[in-house]
Amino acid sequence: MVALTGAGMSVESGIPPFRGPGGLWTKYGEPPMKGYERFVADPAKAWRERLSPSGPMRELWETLQRARPNPGHVALAQLEQSGVLRHLITQNIDNLHVLAGSRLIAEIHGNATLVRCIECVARFPRESIDIEELPPRCPRCNGILKSDTVSFGEPIPPDVLARCFEEAEDSDCMIVAGTSATVYPAAQFPIDIRRRGGHLIEINPFESELSVLASISLRGESGKVLPALAARLLAVA
Ligand SMILES: [Zn+2]
Repeated sequence: MVALTGAGMSVESGIPPFRGPGGLWTKYGEPPMKGYERFVADPAKAWRERLSPSGPMRELWETLQRARPNPGHVALAQLEQSGVLRHLITQNIDNLHVLAGSRLIAEIHGNATLVRCIECVARFPRESIDIEELPPRCPRCNGILKSDTVSFGEPIPPDVLARCFEEAEDSDCMIVAGTSATVYPAAQFPIDIRRRGGHLIEINPFESELSVLASISLRGESGKVLPALAARLLAVA
């Protein structure tokens, strides 16, 4: 069994979504679609903007610092620790799964607490990096460091993408929580599992595009449904 999680889980921890009602981009407007191109063109400028953020990025960073895992994050970590859940794929960047104790995790869109070398793909905790001179450089290969979060126009880091496909290929059951999984590549994993005859367990307060494919749809917030599901699974595991 593997799990795929998305923004719904973050929203339950007080982090605003990007799109939809109350979304950061609904409020401030969509960010430029060429984020990665702009970063590569002038990394120092991109870092200066990041270190003194304004608008939606400031609101996001401030919320991220305060956010704590909710019972849904904790339940997934428990399922991993007890050997029921083999891997977690998340579209969230907030580090809350890691804070809750998940270790076997692929963060498709990166992790906001990390920086990543655009050359050798090594990752480092943001606080461990010297930012006296911008852009900061990779301690391993001297390549340019960028936030690990994936920008618009930036390819998903190949190591993460490969891991996601491997884990999904080896799985015959996927819990999908807090996401309708409509955006590629996340959209592909549930479809692949279903096509091979595996099962999807959808946890979402609302019906989604995924509902027709799901063997079981549990309607509710993941912070409530996941702990109940974990308790049942752990009782029979
Ligand atoms: Zn490097």
